[in-house]
Amino acid sequence: MFISVNRLPHPIPPADSPNPKAAQALQEGLGGQFGEMRTLMQYFFQNMNFRGEAKPYQDLLRSMATEEMGHVEQITNTINMLLEGASEPSDEPDGLPLSVALDSPNIHHFLVAGQSARPVDAAGNPWSASYVYDSGNLVLNMIYNLMLESTGRLQKCRLYQMSNDKAFRSTVSYLIVRDLVHEKVFAKALEALGVNWGKALPIPRFDTSKMPEVRDLERKNLHNQMWTFANRGETSLLDTIFRGDSPFDDGGTLEVIEGFPEGHDIPILPDAPQEFSSGLDSDLMRLTRELQNSSTQKRI
Ligand code: MN
Ligand code: MN
Repeated sequence: MFISVNRLPHPIPPADSPNPKAAQALQEGLGGQFGEMRTLMQYFFQNMNFRGEAKPYQDLLRSMATEEMGHVEQITNTINMLLEGASEPSDEPDGLPLSVALDSPNIHHFLVAGQSARPVDAAGNPWSASYVYDSGNLVLNMIYNLMLESTGRLQKCRLYQMSNDKAFRSTVSYLIVRDLVHEKVFAKALEALGVNWGKALPIPRFDTSKMPEVRDLERKNLHNQMWTFANRGETSLLDTIFRGDSPFDDGGTLEVIEGFPEGHDIPILPDAPQEFSSGLDSDLMRLTRELQNSSTQKRI
């Protein structure tokens, strides 16, 4: 079972301006073949279906699946932030407050959702469970996972070059760094199984310190750290694999941190009456406030 922490792994500043096109590009990182929904489900299934006495590898998959759930939350909130303000309520009877939907790359952001993210890729294809790879063979799974993280990082590096919006860059840069760590995790796991990487990794082989937002995160050693995401008092054997020198030629020292990161506030989106969202009229708002007040009183 899981404990939820109502925080985001990385801050999302307000977008420079509403940007439905950048929001649509980010959908690939959420619901695409190499996106966060797939990494979450792939590592979770590999963890649950694990056979044999190799607890360090099972622990590693559990920590990573848990981290990936936070990435799903991070990227979904960023898409929402980029869509926020794309339409405005109108008091005119024929003001067409949602006409922006006709010029936006994903009309479903406005038509199906209330101006928010969908579990689809950047071409609008629904996320598919058939992306999930779990062969039941440990070495094969680790190789496949390395390919998954490498393709994820490749696509994030491409996304970085599509927009310099602050909200977009903040999340894309964070995910570039975490994908790098995750490439290291699987490279290290395969090294522990006898593989020697030489100089082939990471993918893409590209000096990300040229990206200022990425460089700032790497200065904090975020590209060498893994959290266990385990409950206090539970032992994780992740650090028996993820330790020592970075398997790449970047001179880093690997580090496992118990627990989870401190987290950042989740953005609160206002009502969008032009989308009939949240759809709470004054009567329903009054009932909601009464609920909130009664729970505050209980806590006092
Ligand atoms: Mn991820
Ligand atoms: Mn990952």
